[in-house]
Amino acid sequence: MPNRKFNPLFLALVLVLLVSACQQPEKELREKLYVFGTIVEITIRDKDEAAARAALRDVAADFRRMHKDWHAWKPGELSTLNAAIAAGKTAKVSDFLLSLLLQAQRYERTSDGLFNAAIGALVADWGFHNDDLPKGRAPPYAAIRAWVEAKPKVADLVIRDHEVSSSNRGMQLDFGGFAKGEALDRAVLQLKAHGIKNAILNAGGDLNVMGLHSKRPWRAGIRHPKTWGVIATVDLKPGEVLYTSGNYERFLEYEGVRYSHIIDPRTGWPVKHIVSASVIGRNGADADAAATALSVAGPSGWHRIARRMGVKFAMLVDDQGRIYLNPAMKARIQLEDEKAGEVILSPPLF
Ligand code: ADP
Ligand code: MG
Repeated sequence: MPNRKFNPLFLALVLVLLVSACQQPEKELREKLYVFGTIVEITIRDKDEAAARAALRDVAADFRRMHKDWHAWKPGELSTLNAAIAAGKTAKVSDFLLSLLLQAQRYERTSDGLFNAAIGALVADWGFHNDDLPKGRAPPYAAIRAWVEAKPKVADLVIRDHEVSSSNRGMQLDFGGFAKGEALDRAVLQLKAHGIKNAILNAGGDLNVMGLHSKRPWRAGIRHPKTWGVIATVDLKPGEVLYTSGNYERFLEYEGVRYSHIIDPRTGWPVKHIVSASVIGRNGADADAAATALSVAGPSGWHRIARRMGVKFAMLVDDQGRIYLNPAMKARIQLEDEKAGEVILSPPLF
């Protein structure tokens, strides 16, 4: 008869096997994808490499589709709608595009019109509807004035079910101010559907995080608006996002002046005083739109607009290097150089 007595060696072996199964190391899988003129680096830290690879394949396919459909100046669903609007016609839009139009209307309302996705014609006049940095000069004053007087806004859209037209033929839709955030939000949903729990998605410093980096939070750097370095670091909680709008990356340089690709719809001129605005939130598209709107709102208006848009954590840097923050944001970030610039603390946002 076999010896059924308790065997400590056997137990030790089982324990070792159990512990090593539990501690199967997280693998780090990194992939670079391209969408809206930006490289998106996705880092996944999970145990199941096959699931991670399958998820990345689906995200890449989504990005290709979004890049085509939402492009403001290349053939796709958005440019078809823009052509119909310019011709005073009606176009039928997909569920996908319809949801973006409603989103753009919401951002326009909550930002008091500072976030204006009907700004496409003006952005094109300033030369930013191009894969390369614009060269040449500022548009003629008369063209800028004509746009401001026509006051195109996303609220001019007439939406009946999926039939869309506009009461203002001067409006041309451009989702550049929140498309990146929306794309990363959708990528997160895709990763979740594949069972991925821990990942960071980075589109040129704009980030969505999922879960943790092993046992600690994902640590992120907020880009310095003037150098390629980092102005502050922050630990992002699971599900948080960090978005920065800045005029350091895309601008028109003419006669020694840099004109930002973020345009104030009230004047038709690029934003001057603010060089970057960063927002921490829980939804990429909302944070992306808010960062753009806060840049336009500038030093005097950002706090009011942040409250209207439900922003909880914001930081702006102006052209003099001054840093504007709300107290909750100050508590979360670590400035790289405490003497980097004068810090101006606002009243609480919430
Ligand atoms: P970044 O690309 O630096 O993250 P943003 O998220 O602020 O910058 O997006 C800037 C883009 O948003 C511009 O290239 C343009 O397409 C669009 N845009 C410019 N001004 C506005 C505005 N006032 N409201 C909404 N969108 C804008
Ligand atoms: Mg933005």
